[in-house]
Amino acid sequence: MTMRVLVTGGAGFIGSHFVRELLSGAYPDLDGSRVVVLDALTYAGNPANLDPVRDHPGLEFVHGDICDRELVGRLLAGTGMVVHFAAESHVDRSIADASAFVRTNVLGTQTLLQAAVEAEVARFVHVSTDEVYGSIDSGSWPEEHPLLPNSPYAASKASSDLMALAFHRTHGLEVCVTRCSNNYGPYQFPEKAIPLFTTNLVDGLDVPLYGDGLNSRDWLHVDDHCRGIALVAAKGRAGEVYNIGGGTELTNLELTDHLLELCGRDRSAVRRVTDRAAHDRRYSVDISKISRELGYEPRVPFAEGLAATVTWYRENRAWWEPLKERAALPGAAAAGRGTEQPAGARAH
Ligand code: NAD
Repeated sequence: MTMRVLVTGGAGFIGSHFVRELLSGAYPDLDGSRVVVLDALTYAGNPANLDPVRDHPGLEFVHGDICDRELVGRLLAGTGMVVHFAAESHVDRSIADASAFVRTNVLGTQTLLQAAVEAEVARFVHVSTDEVYGSIDSGSWPEEHPLLPNSPYAASKASSDLMALAFHRTHGLEVCVTRCSNNYGPYQFPEKAIPLFTTNLVDGLDVPLYGDGLNSRDWLHVDDHCRGIALVAAKGRAGEVYNIGGGTELTNLELTDHLLELCGRDRSAVRRVTDRAAHDRRYSVDISKISRELGYEPRVPFAEGLAATVTWYRENRAWWEPLKERAALPGAAAAGRGTEQPAGARAH
């Protein structure tokens, strides 16, 4: 019998990549699954992200909210697996107003977990972030590192991680939690660093760089992240957390230099903006557990992945241009030369 998989947030950046790949047969363990996408289509959700698989007979799209208990209960009947991506995901927005983050990331996750227990769902993969660990000056976080989130976004994700693990311990729900580093790739909403900088640079605009530009991140191609999630979904041990990462560690300034070069621009395009409150200095996950247990390793070389990503944004103006208006934070001017744009060099 084919398994039914509910993918929340499947119209967003990472969730849509997972759905496109799953339906294209990229994940042998999940092959033949029917996919139901549940997405509220917030400013970050975009049905066009699923265009390449829109006519796939194994895809059903449901426009709805993960906080809608009645809808979620109905959708989970007969569902074998939940892969939960839906979230408010932009740190800057969580600083401006954290309410939607608590509602979707905490209450929405609890709503799904409760309904999954009632529907006796066999497996629940909760997609989380390395930001729950806080900031680390040297070395890398193992999964058992204490959670020390600094932004309201990270705090809401940490809360949902704890809730997911508690549902395993309390109700026996087969939950796995993944915590990944910064993703890049096509279809990323142009408020995040790489698409924002790339689209600004190709249009001859400047790019806003926070503080001294020395905040450091591990950049992983979205394809490597989603392959890790598929492995955890198929073979992860219930009740366990798996870090996913192993990309390329770069300061924001180094990342900006790569983008300047790929876009044929120079440092005169960089505009320094005041650093954000509680800006984590460095993230680094230890991925030895997922490598050892599930045979995971990243495959996309950073230079190739970044060049292909820049080419994708160059060739898909029709996808991102209308979104840049939507990308402006409440009360912020549009990104561009001489304007203040708080959506600076952050990934998520
Ligand atoms: P995104 O903002 O691009 O997509 C989020 C999706 O969730 C959107 O389609 C949106 O419409 C949907 N959504 C939001 N609220 C909803 C609600 N109440 N009900 C139903 N759908 C709702 O985010 P992303 O970058 O694709 O991130 C996906 C997940 O991966 C998130 O949980 C995020 O915390 C996690 N993550 C992201 C990164 C990264 O670098 N982007 C890294 C690690 C983990």
